[in-house]
Amino acid sequence: MKNKNELIAEISGLVEKSNTILILGHVSPDGDCFGSMAALGMEFIRKGKTVRCAAGDGLTYKYEFIRDYIEILSAEELYDLYKDTDFDLVITVDTADKYRVGSLLEKVFDRQKCSVAIDHHITNPCFSNVNWIEDRSSASELVYEYLVETGADISVRTANVLFAGIMTDTGNFTYSNTTSKTFEIAAELVKYGAETSFLAEEIDRKRTLGATLLVAHAIDTMTLHHDNRIAVMSVSYDEIYGCGALPEDCENLINFARDIDSVEIAVLIREINPLRHKVSLRSKKYADVAKFAACFGGGGHKHAAGCTLDGTTVEIKKKILEEAEKLI
Ligand code: 5GP
Ligand code: MN
Repeated sequence: MKNKNELIAEISGLVEKSNTILILGHVSPDGDCFGSMAALGMEFIRKGKTVRCAAGDGLTYKYEFIRDYIEILSAEELYDLYKDTDFDLVITVDTADKYRVGSLLEKVFDRQKCSVAIDHHITNPCFSNVNWIEDRSSASELVYEYLVETGADISVRTANVLFAGIMTDTGNFTYSNTTSKTFEIAAELVKYGAETSFLAEEIDRKRTLGATLLVAHAIDTMTLHHDNRIAVMSVSYDEIYGCGALPEDCENLINFARDIDSVEIAVLIREINPLRHKVSLRSKKYADVAKFAACFGGGGHKHAAGCTLDGTTVEIKKKILEEAEKLI
């Protein structure tokens, strides 16, 4: 297996000889996905490359500030414009499996000849030609190391997006994936000018009225099982829009279940269509939800994972509860 320095050298060699670079992230993109995409994208543009970035529906409300830094297209926009284009290089970031880019971007990915994956999910099956997979707090940590090793210029904008990525994937430096290295990198980013209170306000605090009402609704759907050690919430599109919220406002809903003191496993079942649902899983101490999700074709980390299942909310809830109870 190649070591980190060899991987970074190999990736930067590929970047050097590429003129056109496509950077892709996962569906329902989060702060780490946007942060690692934007940081790499800005550096490659600075080097004179032609860069396109795409993930999900493009930038979401909390990450609007990135719009001034770099363009991040939606999967649909990228597909419409570039479905027949051969890029010199495609890089996926924060994307635990090929299908996680979504069906449209997967088609674009599949036609590219040279691919790199930079990811921090150890369940990643290494679906690219070069795979830098390391068990770290966030893909943004890896991108930071890439930029430092390759002598990149780290601007305030780069520091902001990478800090945003690390901050969101570590739950503001509180989850067990936060290491001394995470704090060291965060401190370096602050030295480079990361605007931490601005980022906290934009990403953490600012919330629309609709998103606030959705929190109340999601808590209303919560059921508790097995001595209150398992909590399950569910939301449908009708409920999301009925509250005046958007699908992206589901990003942190699961924490309201996870944070209950008695809860070990928290589950959020989110509608994709009435017969297909995204399941988010969180655990606190002992349950390995990455293995749990892998049984259903998904993946992630020990304490935060997900999968997508066919069936109605009621059917999926029954199936998930049967499995979750074995871990309790
Ligand atoms: P979330 O519940 O916030 O969407 O995801 C939690 C963690 O699990 C993230 O690290 C995410 O990348 C991973 N994850 C979520 N859904 C899937 C999935 O369907 N497949 C894989 N491999 N990982 C997933
Ligand atoms: Mn991540």
